[in-house]
Amino acid sequence: MDTLFHFIFALMGGLAVGFFRGYSINLIIFSSLISILIDLDHLLVPLKLASSYTLLHNIFIVFFLPLFLFLLARYHEGTIYPTKLQRFFLLMMIMLTGHVIADMFCGPIMLFYPVDNTGLMIPEIEIMLTSSFSSPVIGMGGIAITIYALVILFGIFVDQITC
Ligand SMILES: [Zn+2]
Repeated sequence: MDTLFHFIFALMGGLAVGFFRGYSINLIIFSSLISILIDLDHLLVPLKLASSYTLLHNIFIVFFLPLFLFLLARYHEGTIYPTKLQRFFLLMMIMLTGHVIADMFCGPIMLFYPVDNTGLMIPEIEIMLTSSFSSPVIGMGGIAITIYALVILFGIFVDQITC
């Protein structure tokens, strides 16, 4: 997926989570911009600063790192980290995970790099109602949005039980 798509996709996810009700919309725009930085992978490999396009596109960077930072901020709430940081890291987890899921529709991603170098992608599924109708009942676009909606729901669920 192109970087503009990732930015808009992240922005929509951020708006869907609804954090803007308690915080500035600027936080969601800023988070969306930060979430596209993992596409620096496309620059690092040609510059020989990385050996793989998934140096940043892996589950440890997009999911576990923000989750760890979220839990760290949650644990230290009211001491050194303000509550706003919790939501920022949660938002980053949603946006970065959505970014990699979208990329997995376009080509293989080494999701567990550097532990495992197997390229994984979402298999192409298309269910047609009738052969005379050109649009499928279930296709890749709908599946991508459904997976992202589940990621957003996870973020809302975690936000409601912790923040
Ligand atoms: Zn990407």
